[in-house]
Amino acid sequence: MEGNAIRLRSLRKVFGRTEAVAGVELAISDGEFFSMLGPSGSGKTTVLRLIAGFETPTSGTVELDGKDVTRLAPFERDVHTVFQDYALFPHMSVEQNVAYGLKVQKVPKAERLRRAAEALESVRLSGFGKRRPSQLSGGQRQRVALARALVGRPRVLLLDEPLGALDLKLREQMQIELKELQREVGITFVFVTHDQDEALTMSDRIAVFQDGRIEQTGTPAEIYERPASPFVAGFVGTSNLLTGETAEQVVGKPGTFSVRPEKIRVLKESATGEDEPEHTAAKGSVAEVVYLGDTTRFLVDLDAGGRLTAVQQNLETSSEDVAAFRGSRVRLQWHHRHNFRVEEAP
Ligand code: ATP
Repeated sequence: MEGNAIRLRSLRKVFGRTEAVAGVELAISDGEFFSMLGPSGSGKTTVLRLIAGFETPTSGTVELDGKDVTRLAPFERDVHTVFQDYALFPHMSVEQNVAYGLKVQKVPKAERLRRAAEALESVRLSGFGKRRPSQLSGGQRQRVALARALVGRPRVLLLDEPLGALDLKLREQMQIELKELQREVGITFVFVTHDQDEALTMSDRIAVFQDGRIEQTGTPAEIYERPASPFVAGFVGTSNLLTGETAEQVVGKPGTFSVRPEKIRVLKESATGEDEPEHTAAKGSVAEVVYLGDTTRFLVDLDAGGRLTAVQQNLETSSEDVAAFRGSRVRLQWHHRHNFRVEEAP
């Protein structure tokens, strides 16, 4: 069985009057791509800094590979941190930047150069070794920072919003590359982001943070399809909350439910045909339709109160068909199994 690369127990960090980390329990497996996701100020970066050793916890412990490292300095921990601003040395070549840590460790020159070349190859930057960071694009600089992290072969790589400075296209490309790279090298990645799509794209598992606590830990599918609270449902995807009263036939005990937009079928109210069995239905008026090329997004004000978002694939739908829905009366339908309970009734 694979062990835990990282184990956090009852971790707390207080800055003055702010409880930045309010009791975090977490186990991250060896070789996992693990993301910490949450809004600004939710404590993700502080947890990362506690793992790296840049901060000392107010209470609780940090274990790496089964060993308590809570009192060890950063350089005594087998981890490497990649920051958003890359922190490359501008006066050094790419190769020197990548090999710098090995030089500090007094690794002989020939081996330094060999390992730097290897690391640059793994991030597909062979041939860029002699350039200065200023002669690279943002994405290339980001990859140099990764190569510099990989060259020391740490057990764990900590990444704090490393793609934050890149434009959206490049960012999406780097997400895939980073995920592939992580699979290749097999190092445990702990990735901090406030971007839900990024976390869903890259992670084996995600911890969703709010107010210094973990609201839910799970695979992307678990987090998306079975959110543990209204907060998670809203932060990862569109929450589409409804209560027993707002839909005509939410089954089971009363409570608050979440239904994801792509599960909802939008039908004209005038459409003929029986209600499908085992489906929840709700009537309403279309407040807005947004044609997005591959999909259309409907905002529907329900007769019973509240608003739902529905997303439909544009299989045979044209933008003219879509426009005809604006302001019209519709009937929404989705299978009962897509009603996911996020809260019990009080
Ligand atoms: P962001 O996405 O904005 O980086 P975050 O989820 O990473 O946010 P943290 O940076 O961990 O959040 O901050 C958590 C809380 O702790 C915030 O309220 C922040 O203001 C506070 N905090 C963090 N570092 C310090 C510090 N050195 N001194 C005082 N307060 C701090």
